Amino acid sequence: MTASAARDDVDATAPDVGERPLTDELLARVHDRAAGYDEANAFFAEDLADLRAAGYLGLCSPAAYGGAGATLRQTSDAQRRLAAAAPATALGINMHLVWTSVARILADRGIDTLDFVLREAAAGELFAFGVSEPGNDLMLFDSVTTARRESDGGYRYTGRKIFTSLSPAWTRLGVHGREETPHGPRLVWGFLDRADGGTRSLGDWNTLGMRASQSHTTELEDARVRPDRIVATLPVGPVPDPLIFAIFAAFEVLLASVYAGIAERAVILAIEAASRRTSRRSGAALDQDPDTRYRIAEAQLLVDGMLADLTATAQDVDRQVDHGPRWFSRLSGVKVRVTRTTREVVDLALAAGGGAQFTRTSELSRLYRDVAAGAYHPSSDSSAHATMATALLGPLA
Ligand SMILES: Cc1cc2nc3c(=O)[nH]c(=O)nc-3n(C[C@H](O)[C@H](O)[C@H](O)COP(=O)(O)OP(=O)(O)OC[C@H]3O[C@@H](n4cnc5c(N)ncnc54)[C@H](O)[C@@H]3O)c2cc1C
Repeated sequence: MTASAARDDVDATAPDVGERPLTDELLARVHDRAAGYDEANAFFAEDLADLRAAGYLGLCSPAAYGGAGATLRQTSDAQRRLAAAAPATALGINMHLVWTSVARILADRGIDTLDFVLREAAAGELFAFGVSEPGNDLMLFDSVTTARRESDGGYRYTGRKIFTSLSPAWTRLGVHGREETPHGPRLVWGFLDRADGGTRSLGDWNTLGMRASQSHTTELEDARVRPDRIVATLPVGPVPDPLIFAIFAAFEVLLASVYAGIAERAVILAIEAASRRTSRRSGAALDQDPDTRYRIAEAQLLVDGMLADLTATAQDVDRQVDHGPRWFSRLSGVKVRVTRTTREVVDLALAAGGGAQFTRTSELSRLYRDVAAGAYHPSSDSSAHATMATALLGPLA
C-alpha cells in the first residue's frame, strides 16, 4: 500500500495526534537530562531511545505503517512541546521529522517517491539531513559534493557535509550531490544507508548551544546510494519542483517550531522566577512589580503572535493553499520572524528573572545559548529578504 492510500485510515484531524507519543512522563525525563547533555557535550542517546520506543520516529507515517499520521501542523505542535523540554533533542530529531514530513507533503499531493521514508521511519530507522556543505550558500540549489552514476542507476557520493545533526545515531542520510553530464550539471538527491559504508563522522561538534544535537561534519567517501533510493535528479539552480517545495516547507516550519517551543518555555521560566523573588522595598513578590509584569506580558504578546504566524503557515501547507510565487517568501519569513523573536523573548525572560538566571547552570541561560543557533539555519536573514524582495519587486536586473 502506498502512503497516499494508507493515509485514509488515520484520523489526522484529531488535535492530539502529534501529542500522543509525548506523554508528560517522557517529557519530564527528557527535560531532566537536557542540562547534563549540554554540560557533557553529549548526544541525547537516552532521549532517542525513549522517543523511538514511544513511536515518535513514526509520527508522520500513516497508521498502515504503524505511524501516527501527523500533519505538518500536528508535527509542529509536537515539536514545540519537545523543544520546551529539551531544545537540542528537539532540534536533532527535527531533521528526521523534516524528511518524514517531506514524504508526507509529497504523498498528500499524490507523489509517492519517498514512501519508503515513511515506512522505514515507522519501523525505527533514523533519517538525518545531509545538505549543508562548506562554502555552499546556494544550499538546495547546488552542491560541492560529487555524484557519480553507476551502471545499475545507483550513485556514489564524494564530498563533505557539515552540521549533520544526529551524527552518532542516524541510519539513513538524505543527501544531494552534483553530477556533470553532457547535457549540463544536475543535482541528484538520494538516501544513503549507513550500513552500506562510505561515510565517516569527524566528531567535531563543540558549540555554544544546541550541543546535544551532535551535528558533526560527515565525510562521504564514494558512498553508494542504491538505485531505488535515488529520489530526484534536478537542474542546478532554483526550480519549481515538488521535492524542493516540500523540503522548504517542512524545514522552515519545523525549524521555527523548535524555536517557538523555546520561547514558550522561556515565558514559563520567567513567571516562575518572578513569583519566587520578593522585593525588600515593598515586601511583595516580584510578580507584582510593574516592570517585571510589563516584561513578561511583552514576552507573551510576542509568543502569541509567533504561534499564530506559525500555525497558520503549517495549516496552509496541509491544506495545500496556493500562495503561488509568494510561497517561498512566506516560508522563509516565518522562520526568520520566529527565530528572531525568540531571541527577544528569551532576553525579556532573562531580564524579568533577575541575576540568578545569569548563572551557568540556570535553564534560561542554556536557552539563551540555544536560541543563538537560530540565526545560522537557513533561511538566513539576508536570503529571506532577498526572496521577499524578488517576490515583490521581481528579480535583480
Ligand atoms: C544547531 C545546528 C544544527 C544543524 N543541523 C543541520 C543538519 O542536520 N543538516 C544540515 O544540512 N545542516 C544543518 N545545519 C547547518 C546550517 O543549516 C548551516 O549550513 C550552517 O549553520 C553553516 O552556516 P554558514 O554557511 O553560515 O557557516 P560558515 O561559517 O560560513 O561555514 C561553516 C563551515 O564551512 C567552512 N567554510 C565556509 N566557507 C567555505 C569555503 N568557501 N570553502 C571551504 N570551507 C568553507 C567554514 O570554515 C566552517 O567550518 C545546522 C545548523 C545548526 C546551527
